[in-house]
Parts: sequence; structure tokens; C-alpha cells
Amino acid sequence: MCGIIGYIGNRDAVPLLLKGLKRLEYRGYDSAGIAVLTDGQIHSIKKSGKVSQLEVLVDDTPMKGSIGIAHTRWATHGEPNDINAHPHLDHTGRIALIHNGIIENHETIRKVLEERDIPFTSDTDSEALVQLVSAMYFDDDELSFEGAFRAALQDVVGAYGVVAVCAEEPETVLAARMGSPLVIGIGEGEYFLASDASPIVEYTRNVIYLDEGEMVKLTPDNHSISRIDSSEIVSRGSVEIEMSIEQIEKGDFDHFMLKEIHEQKHTITDTMRGRLNLEDGTTHLGGIADFKPSILAADRVYITACGTSWHAALIGKQLIENYAQIPVDVEYASEFRYRNAIINPDTVLIAVSQSGETADTLAAIRKAKNLGALTIGICNVVGSSIARETDAGIYTHAGPEIGVASTKAFTAQVAVMTMLALSLGRRKGFDAGLGRDLTKALHHIDNDIQTILDDDQSIRKVAQDTHMVDNFLYLGRGINFPVALEGALKLKEISYIHAEGYPAAEMKHGPIALIDENMPVVFIAPRDDTYSKILSNIQEVKARRGIVISITDRKTRELDSLSDHLLEVPRTHKHVFPITASIILQLLAYHLAVLRGCEIDQPRNLAKSVTVE
Ligand code: GLU
Repeated sequence: MCGIIGYIGNRDAVPLLLKGLKRLEYRGYDSAGIAVLTDGQIHSIKKSGKVSQLEVLVDDTPMKGSIGIAHTRWATHGEPNDINAHPHLDHTGRIALIHNGIIENHETIRKVLEERDIPFTSDTDSEALVQLVSAMYFDDDELSFEGAFRAALQDVVGAYGVVAVCAEEPETVLAARMGSPLVIGIGEGEYFLASDASPIVEYTRNVIYLDEGEMVKLTPDNHSISRIDSSEIVSRGSVEIEMSIEQIEKGDFDHFMLKEIHEQKHTITDTMRGRLNLEDGTTHLGGIADFKPSILAADRVYITACGTSWHAALIGKQLIENYAQIPVDVEYASEFRYRNAIINPDTVLIAVSQSGETADTLAAIRKAKNLGALTIGICNVVGSSIARETDAGIYTHAGPEIGVASTKAFTAQVAVMTMLALSLGRRKGFDAGLGRDLTKALHHIDNDIQTILDDDQSIRKVAQDTHMVDNFLYLGRGINFPVALEGALKLKEISYIHAEGYPAAEMKHGPIALIDENMPVVFIAPRDDTYSKILSNIQEVKARRGIVISITDRKTRELDSLSDHLLEVPRTHKHVFPITASIILQLLAYHLAVLRGCEIDQPRNLAKSVTVE
């Protein structure tokens, strides 16, 4: 979930590692720490709070070295305090380790080691691993650091991206991956290791992604990859990363989130590049082309995801059912993986995840695969676990998303869902002319988005008038019900205002009790076949003195007179409207959070990529 960076080479590792931690801040974390090897000793400093607080400490206690590891922690076991921050040192102070994930059998390991009078200092699960490596290493003169590391990992149950150094073998960095990604950056006489490519890209584009169940030994001029359960060397070529520095820097924007909201005028076009066929009113998705017949012939189609991606899945369901007439079930991956769902070789599972590393979504894929289903991944990060483990897939191509609250990745997912639905639908006989209406509208989306961004002032005005409230309600119908859910999620994620999304008509079955003059209600109110019904729902809120904020693609006198605030998007196809309306909701959440003084890019308690259950 959180961040790992490691270095071995000739440079001064400390500033490099601190900068790397800053690049990883976007993932969400609560504490940070660093350890370097100097003159046969390990020096480590760690601190709860921000990387900038760690930097102050490092400035006060200068440390130097050209081999080191650093970490941003997102606490799972033990409070986010200084002691629980990583790196964790073994009781001799000769081995340091950083860990992403969860060691599930940490209590058993701790108990066994404590019975041997090995003292533990933290409350974390991770410390059990470093103490275990240490016990194995120092117990057996024959065993190398690598041997002890491998043996300890074989005793561990759980998920990890882990990196360790040892003062006895100061020319070595070891790392392993099980459920939490690690990428190795290859330089000239130097190596970098990180939980994603963002802290590496300014030094090298030449990388190797460690596979599940693999470990690596790095020395300044060599790397050797093996399986954790076998010392046999695995040979693996490197790949080039496409990410650019500009993509992972804020530029002139105040926040990554704002930058990414603005980027949507290009990213959705990137998502659709080479995939829209305007003439035939269809789309071409190369990654699934061979699998279309299986999808169309499937017994059942599930779409599984978590969080924002789950909302994109709900939109996908409505689109696929509409265009292709195939029944689709949408499932939270965390539920799907454990429930007794009906899965067989005629089942198709579509999994959606920005990072492609979401632990529950990956587990859902593995389960479906084991039962013979065809699995299709929709993710943003090229080469991610989901991309590699699914049978086929569609990249969203939104570029690196740094803000924790997803924006451009969400709209890209919705664009992919729309293209998928149309492509399946056309194959099943959906009308070419109607298909052309949709592809044409998709083709013009960049202009529509620009218009929305140009009118940011109106959205900011709504935020100014409502930012002191404690609650928000978001209501929509049909395909815009998930849009309402996503709007509410965005708001709570970054502003900490309590917000709920509901199907508009459901309001009468409960939430209407909450409505008074302090309750803003955001209505997603396009001029489609739900319009007259939405108007009635707006009347119901108005009658109870709620604050009505309407988002529409056609301003009518009636809607205008009923709304305290009316935000317009350009007129578009009803199945493109969810994307444009979502951008208004993103900006609304953003401005509300800014006015409330919130940390936009790293909201409290949240992590960017949820690689633990
Ligand atoms: N489970 C570990 C801890 O709580 C690591 C958490 C993380 O992924 O940062 O310290």
C-alpha cells in the first residue's frame, strides 16, 4: 500500500532515498523512515508523520552511505508512531528491513522468538520477519544473508514487498515480492528498487518487474533473480518504462488532483486512441478481440472491483446490458473472493483496478481462474499484476495517477466500459447508426471537458456557498446512480464531509428524513428519459427546504427555478454524460476540500493502491 525505495551504487543514498520517499508520498502513508549502511554499521532514522518531518531529523543527524533503504508506512499492525515506523532492525542492530503488506503468522513467529529471549521493540507484524531472518542468519554459520532471507520468507504466511540489508554483508540488498509489487531500476554500476516506478524514472528507464514469488539479490554491479522457494537463477530481460517526469510532477497546479482533473481533456482521448471506428459506429479493442465470442457466449458475466473502480463497473453493467443484452453482475471483489459465487468455464470475470495491484481484485481473479473462468483486466498500470494474470485485458492509458482520490483513472475506466459495451453490442447486431451517435459523442468529449474546465468558477461558487455543512446527498437515476455514488465518495475521501449517494427515488425510503435547510442535495439531472422523474425528486427536496444543486446538460426554466445552483455540461450523448458530469463532481469535491483546508492529495487514512485485504 505504502512506499518502498532502495538503492545500491556509488551515489550519496540519503538525498536520493528522501526524494524517492517524496515521490511515493501520493500512495498515502502515516510515517516514514530510512536506513543506510556506513562503515559496517546500519544507521536508521524514522518518524511518524510526513517525509518532511523525517527530513528535518536527517538534517540534524547527518547520515551518509551509498547503500540504503527507505519506507513510507501505512499502518496495519500497531499505531502509526515512531517506533512502529519502518525500517525495523533486528535485535542485534545488524539487519534492517522494510515491508509493505501483512505478515499473517507474525504472532506465532514472535512467540517462538520471544521464548528464545529475542526482544521485540515494535507492535508491528513486520518486525517478526526481520527478527526471523536474524535468528536464522546468526544461528547458522553456514547460512548467507540471502539464504537466511529466503528461509525466513518460506516460513512466512502473508503478503509482502520486502527489502533488507545486513551490516555483515554490506555490498548486498535483498528484496522479495509476494502480493505487493516491486520494480528494479537498472543503472550503470547501481540499482534502484521501489514499490512503483515513480521514484526511479529520473535515474533510469530500464527496469525489471519482479514477479509474484520472486526474490532478487542486488550488488552494485549485478542482480540475480530467483524464486523464493528455489535458489535456481531466473533469467529475465529488462523493459523500458514509458512514464515521464512531467507526468509525476505537479507543474503549475496546486495539487496533483487538480492537475489530473484537468488532464482528462487529453487522457480520455488517449484511452480511446486507435479504438474508435467513427465510420462503422463501433470500437476496436485489440486486447480482447480474440475473446469477444467467448464473452458473447458466456453463461454469466461478472464485473468485480473495489472503491471508485466499482462505480465504473456499475456503469459498465448498465452499458453492456443496454448495448449487448448480456446480463452482468457487479460484485465487490472483497465479497466475491469469499462468497460461493457460481463460476464455471462459461463464466467471464472482468476485473477493474487503477493500479492493477488491488489485493481483493487480484484474489477474485485468481479464484475465477481456478474455476476455469475467462478473466479480463481493465487497469491503468502497464505490466501490473492484474495485467499479467488475466487472460486478456484493456489498458485505460490515463497515465500515472498520483492523487489518492481517483479522477482521470475513473473516467478512463468509464470510457473503456463504454467502448467495450458498444463493441460487444455491435457484434450482436446493435444498430450502426446509433453506434455512430455514440462514437461521435465520444470523439468530441475533449471539447466538452474543456468547456467544463473553463467554467470552473461556477463550481467554485457552489463550493463557497456550501463548504460549512456536515452532510451532502447525491442523487441520480439509471446510469447516473453510480455517478452519484462516485460523487459522494470523492467528497468524503478528500473533504471528510459525510456524503451518501442514492438512486433518486430511493430517497423517499429513508434519506429524505435528513433533508432540511442545511442539506445540499446534488441531483444528476440530464435531459434523458429519467428527466421528469428527477424533477419530481427535486420538488420533494425543495419542499423540505433542502439546498438543490443540479447538474444537467440542458438548462430548462423549470430546472433552473427549482435549483439553488445549476451546473451545466455541454449537451452530449446520454452515455457520455456520466463522464462529463463526473468531472463537475470531481471539481466540486476538490473546491470543497480546499475551502475546508484539507490535504487534497493525501487524504487521511487512505492509500492509493490497496494491496492488503
Ligand atoms: N504491516 C506493516 C505494518 O503495519 C506494513 C504496513 C505497510 O504496508 O506499510 O507496519
